[in-house]
Amino acid sequence: MAEQRLRVVIIGAGMAGASLAYELAETADVLLLERESHPGYHSTGRSAAMFTETYGPAPVRALTRAARAFYETPPAGFISVPILTPRGVILVADATQAALIPETLAAGATHALTPSEAEAQVPILRGERLVGAVAEPGARAMDVDALLQAYLRGLKARGARLMCDAVVTALAREGSGWQVTTAAGVFSADVIVNAAGAWGDKIAEIAGVTTVGLVPKRRTAILIDAPSDSAAWPMLNDIAELWYIKPDAGLLLASPADATPVEPQDAQPDEMDVAICVDRIETATKLTVRRIRHKWAGLRSFVGDGVPVAGFDSITPGFFWLVGQGGYGIQTASALARLSAALIRGVPVPADLLANGVDPADLSPARLLS
Ligand SMILES: Cc1cc2nc3c(=O)[nH]c(=O)nc-3n(C[C@H](O)[C@H](O)[C@H](O)COP(=O)(O)OP(=O)(O)OC[C@H]3O[C@@H](n4cnc5c(N)ncnc54)[C@H](O)[C@@H]3O)c2cc1C
Repeated sequence: MAEQRLRVVIIGAGMAGASLAYELAETADVLLLERESHPGYHSTGRSAAMFTETYGPAPVRALTRAARAFYETPPAGFISVPILTPRGVILVADATQAALIPETLAAGATHALTPSEAEAQVPILRGERLVGAVAEPGARAMDVDALLQAYLRGLKARGARLMCDAVVTALAREGSGWQVTTAAGVFSADVIVNAAGAWGDKIAEIAGVTTVGLVPKRRTAILIDAPSDSAAWPMLNDIAELWYIKPDAGLLLASPADATPVEPQDAQPDEMDVAICVDRIETATKLTVRRIRHKWAGLRSFVGDGVPVAGFDSITPGFFWLVGQGGYGIQTASALARLSAALIRGVPVPADLLANGVDPADLSPARLLS
């Protein structure tokens, strides 16, 4: 028997909503609603654009591994530029951080480096401060904008609709489904997907759904001048996530890796965080920061256990959660979208996700009910 076409309204056209709309559009009638005038304005447009399989708790690492195949070999015609490009990572440890080296080595395809080996790869490092380092040569830089645009083109080609300037203001039960009130009209849906990023709990509140304790955390980034030989350097991360530096289009992207809890908002950089960033970079490296070319901040939103939330609400029917991607929402998007599409359609989870260790129970909102 043919699968019944569900009417799905997805709230939020960041990477999460766009990738899920693409995955669902072949089998469902999908409407993707975005409050801003263009998709990707919030967290998705503000990331460090990295793909690293050693980063985050185990369920996140499983999702990242599972996303790799799509990014390395996307479907024919999906995108005309590489999504992933070589950009290894070196995580450096000073004497106070030595205990973090073994667990980082165990987190993925890594190997240990001596301080002088790390300094040989990235000559600005102050190797004398270090006790060791961990290399993840398989890490990659991501072309986030090209990926988002490819998902948006793809979802439209599959018949889904994107509406911008369409803030969702009310969600009410309508028969067995939902009535969705927006600035651009009122719509009916069998299923609503909450892919509203930092606003995930606000969407739950207007739907009368119990919130999941989502906390948006502000993170700051700056662009500074780069030494001329930096283009092929790996990204440098403090192993305890106190700062990072990534070569980026002829400049260096640097961050103090701050994580300040804030209300959902259009995040702006705080001058103190920028100053802390400069201080940490100048302490860890031989760089002197003379000019900040650009600065910004974005929100990374987490629930209590730091693992994304993907699944139907266990109390309110037809309400699907896709939030809490923290600092991993780009690198995990493809896997989360494919998992979510399977759960919404009620079909088996793709075997490659399970083979990479993705367990839907780890991501289910039910785990957060006390
Ligand atoms: C500095 C920084 C560095 C990062 N680095 C990386 C990295 O290297 N790799 C990685 O994988 N991840 C990284 N991240 C995390 C990543 O950016 C996020 O996890 C990801 O963008 C989340 O995508 P999203 O679609 O859930 O959220 P968003 O992109 O924020 O999209 C949610 C959308 O919902 C919309 N919305 C909200 N409320 C409503 C409403 N009522 N009606 C309609 N629309 C609504 C918003 O306008 C928004 O566009 C980083 C984040 C930051 C801030």
